[in-house]
Amino acid sequence: MPISPLRVWEKLQHTAQWGRLEIGDHVGLCRESLTDSDREVRDWFVAEAKDIGCEVKVDEMGNIFAIFPGRNSGLAPIGIGSHLDSQPAGGRFDGALGVIAALQVLRAVKESGVLTNAPLAAINWTNEEGSRFPRMCTGSGVWSGAEDVESSHALTDLANPSITLGDELKRIGYLGTTPCSYRENRLSAHFELHIEQGPRLEKAQQKLAVVSGVQGMRAYEIRCQGVGGHAGAVPMAQRADALAALATFVVKTEELARREDAFGTVGVIETDTSSPNTVPGRAFCTLDLRHHNENTLDTIERELDAHLSKLEQDRPGIKTSITKTRHKKSIKFDPEASRCLQQALTSTVHESLVCSLESYAGHDSAETAVVIPTTMLFIPSKNGISHNPAEFSSEEDCEIGAQALLQAVLNYDAFLEGK
Ligand SMILES: [Zn+2]
Repeated sequence: MPISPLRVWEKLQHTAQWGRLEIGDHVGLCRESLTDSDREVRDWFVAEAKDIGCEVKVDEMGNIFAIFPGRNSGLAPIGIGSHLDSQPAGGRFDGALGVIAALQVLRAVKESGVLTNAPLAAINWTNEEGSRFPRMCTGSGVWSGAEDVESSHALTDLANPSITLGDELKRIGYLGTTPCSYRENRLSAHFELHIEQGPRLEKAQQKLAVVSGVQGMRAYEIRCQGVGGHAGAVPMAQRADALAALATFVVKTEELARREDAFGTVGVIETDTSSPNTVPGRAFCTLDLRHHNENTLDTIERELDAHLSKLEQDRPGIKTSITKTRHKKSIKFDPEASRCLQQALTSTVHESLVCSLESYAGHDSAETAVVIPTTMLFIPSKNGISHNPAEFSSEEDCEIGAQALLQAVLNYDAFLEGK
């Protein structure tokens, strides 16, 4: 199939008008999920899809599927998706590139006049960022069966707890009726083009990466109970200072994460006192732990548990508890889809410009990978910056990424047809 330029750049710049955020010299986005600016860019997506000749389906989570027919209408579409929402001070490329490239892939197939065997679906997944409604990849997570519709509709806006995700879906007109389930609204596969959001491709002066998988992520809440008291009156030897005890946990986390070459972050610490002259009686922290190997995460988890037990022995009066609030297993992407992608990448640029990388960040593809063949490709991010208006990828790289995405989908379509 002859491929003319996919012109993703001009569409990216055009859609950046919705939620446009200028900080200094940089143009970014403030387009959090289900806000008015998200509605505007969704309306644009639907209009583009209809212009291409797609059937548009909206599901119960507001995920939008723009389906372009193939020769075999009995096959589930090959999905090509990402997200149009952004962080509160995000960039123009994270997510939007993948959705716009998906639409342009469908447009290129239409303009070529040659139908693929399987139908193709460009997809906008709801609330990937999880900044407004605090659950990352909500739409793709429900579709893949990791979460349910009811609890996701009940998520509340962090800035305004009286607003639920379900209310906002209804308000902006994107509470659809298509079941949000991979069983009832099927896809044959999922492909995603994304910016790297890190510096590895740029450093290696490479253009494209086959993403091998997504590292595992676990989140915890740790509580420490001690005895509060007067900062000047309780003798040091008799204290059960909850924060001093919890501080050893923070240091232990860093030590273990460094030793295992993992990522360990305590992002929130709270105590029951905001007074500078009171001994904290209660302390709380969160922990975010990431690594590609589940065994390594198990090891760190075990050693942190042991540290807390020892803490109770060493410090009379201290009681601790740790609760796991999230467990996302590490993901390896599908070998067949990855092979089709690898071929596409090396036919788009010289093979010396292609590498394989693991994704450190979570993506919608990590959700779909649990239930259908999935793979992802990365293009370089300038200085590795993302979730910031300074996020940037060049016009050339965006176009190369979209071309490779198109070729990968065509390769996979041929693979499915030959199966
Ligand atoms: Zn993203």
